[in-house]
Amino acid sequence: MSIDEFDVAVIGGSYAGISAATQLARARRRVLVIDAGQRRNRYALHSHGFLGQDGREAAAIAADGKAQLMKYPTVQWLEGAATQAAAADDGFDVATADGASFRARRLVLATGMVDELPAVPGLAERWGSSVFHCPYCHGYELEQGRIGVLATSALSMHHALMLPDWGTVTLFLNGAFEPDEEQLGKLAQRGVTVERTPLRAISGVATVELQDGRALEQAGLFVLSRLHSASPLAEQLGCDMEQGPMGSYVRTDMTKASSIAGVYVCGDAARMAGSVALAVADGAMAGVGAHHSLIFGAAAA
Ligand code: FAD
Ligand code: MG
Repeated sequence: MSIDEFDVAVIGGSYAGISAATQLARARRRVLVIDAGQRRNRYALHSHGFLGQDGREAAAIAADGKAQLMKYPTVQWLEGAATQAAAADDGFDVATADGASFRARRLVLATGMVDELPAVPGLAERWGSSVFHCPYCHGYELEQGRIGVLATSALSMHHALMLPDWGTVTLFLNGAFEPDEEQLGKLAQRGVTVERTPLRAISGVATVELQDGRALEQAGLFVLSRLHSASPLAEQLGCDMEQGPMGSYVRTDMTKASSIAGVYVCGDAARMAGSVALAVADGAMAGVGAHHSLIFGAAAA
């Protein structure tokens, strides 16, 4: 093996990638982690709902994982973005934006997703501090106050019907859809106020400024983002995708194997809706799956 050859290259070194690499390191395999340092939750200071780490700084959870991983001598960490991945003899060639290239017998993609928010002035600036997508992650801290759901499509019914468990909810339709009689009935049953006046901007902590001049103060806002793959690698490799309501993600089997033999995909990149706990679990599975495949052979999902 030359210096640049690895058993497994893990692309993406956040929760899912670190978890995958840890399993492989513990099997004494040569692992390269390439990470561009853009965790999806970097806009939120604290992370909630992950066993033993509830309410801790999101960055600290990842930093601890990385520090523990780097104690294993067979792991190398490279800061940067992988821009190319292609099948090669007995493995895969990976190239980075800096012009470095590596060969690995297996790939684990843990590259995550990017959120695209509706273009309401003031919304993006508050993403992760008072504008959220996940009630389980950030609903509790709103202390049962006023919660605005900003509709992007009829899918926002889901948010509107869930969030009354966390506060007093107004559904701002903003022209995104018009609930039918049955939906209006369900919203009324859950005590949700429906507001049809379009939004002008978000100001203050989470004040919704309407086009008729009213300003409705909220403790927080929830909005569904469109999700896009954070990297083109799965598509480059030809991995089958799954179409979800918020965007497409890589199809995997229970071992996190993709449709391309030898390529494992884990975390947000390979599920409809993710969390730190699920990324860590998927990563552990992908690490074990990739390791098994080195011994028993790789199968495609
Ligand atoms: P990420 O954490 O997104 O990491 C992907 C990594 O891969 C990044 O470091 C990225 O730079 C890297 N990468 C991507 N492409 C490349 C490439 N080509 N080359 C090299 N590296 C690359 N979940 C919770 O459980 N609790 C919470 O409280 C919570 N709060 C959230 C708040 C916000 C605002 C958001 C948006 C999400 C929140 N989440 C929360 C969800 C959580 O962030 C994700 O589920 C989790 O980060 C997924 O982990 P991951 O490892 O799959 O991907
Ligand atoms: Mg990761």
